[in-house]
Amino acid sequence: MPELPEVETVRRGIAAHVVGRTVSRVEVGRERTVRRMGREALIHGLSGATILSAQRRGKYLLCPLDSGEVLMIHLRMSGRVLIAEPSAPRPPHTHVVAHLAALGDAPPIELWFVDPRTFGEVLVFDPAHAAQQVPELARLGPDPLVDEFTPDVLARQLLGKRGALKAALLDQSVVAGIGNIYADEILHRAGLRPRREPHRLSRRTIERLYGAIVEVLAAAVASGGSTLDDTQYVDVDGTTGSYQHEHRVYGRAGDTCFTCGRARISRTVVAGRTTCYCAVCQR
Ligand SMILES: [Zn+2]
Repeated sequence: MPELPEVETVRRGIAAHVVGRTVSRVEVGRERTVRRMGREALIHGLSGATILSAQRRGKYLLCPLDSGEVLMIHLRMSGRVLIAEPSAPRPPHTHVVAHLAALGDAPPIELWFVDPRTFGEVLVFDPAHAAQQVPELARLGPDPLVDEFTPDVLARQLLGKRGALKAALLDQSVVAGIGNIYADEILHRAGLRPRREPHRLSRRTIERLYGAIVEVLAAAVASGGSTLDDTQYVDVDGTTGSYQHEHRVYGRAGDTCFTCGRARISRTVVAGRTTCYCAVCQR
């Protein structure tokens, strides 16, 4: 599933190619992609609107429109946002197409939402009614790249949290944007076992965890995110990410740890998710 670095890469693509353009026409194929508002409401909400900016919080893409409403896209398991020429053949599972008018010298383009597994979502909502229309947005914790995020903020978010530290990192109300790949990579970078108890972490340990969160996410964004064998994540122009080549634990169970060169990477299940860690590096 795309996580913060992948969604941020898509956001940058939208910012570069789509912002400032006006939606001339909208096509909706699979209704499930627009399940929260329905086909007609999405077409009505998006047609004629100009996209003012491309923002992101956690795994949510948020594009304010000149109508005062906001276009929200969530990729979930297999969603992709692609930008293409109007004559380009559409891939299977293209569920939403926004036709975007020419902008200056730039010819018209299309924004496609492609999603084989159809867990993803496209929605236009009124920010004045965000609490009713998209309640999960209001529950998001701080985004490590967008919001004020400091060791103090992280300590506050982990305060009183019981259970496994990895579960806390996956909880979008604690920190927004981290999923299974980056939780494992962050915990390895911080030298912490996935089952450590968040409420027992010392101040120094929280500072180390904070550093790992910021460093891993920033490095992954710089690499355009991670494209795995079993997922279809690509940038808006179809380019794959390269951070999968930097993974130190995720997907490496049984292989020798790059960091200590001694242990083989262990695999277990934490918070219902496959979890990889190094028993030597992570304490
Ligand atoms: Zn190790």
